[in-house]
Amino acid sequence: MENPICQSCGMPMKSEEDFGTELDGEKNSEYCHYCYKNGRFTDEGITMEDKIKKNVKIAKKMGVPEDKAREMANKIIPTLKRWQE
Ligand SMILES: [Zn+2]
Repeated sequence: MENPICQSCGMPMKSEEDFGTELDGEKNSEYCHYCYKNGRFTDEGITMEDKIKKNVKIAKKMGVPEDKAREMANKIIPTLKRWQE
């Protein structure tokens, strides 16, 4: 089975610790622990545009070239569940 990706930022979730948590400590299967913690989004109220910018910044820190990071974020993020409104 393919790894699920976070429905907020697109990060692949490979291990237990990658998943977000509910208030009662249960794992959330749709969002990663960077985006979702203790039953709420860590960046509640952020716009999709800002989320893309934030993702590009994180990817850059991880060594991904900015052009490539931006292209990926623009392609993936708008398709994710959190931004379908
Ligand atoms: Zn995420």
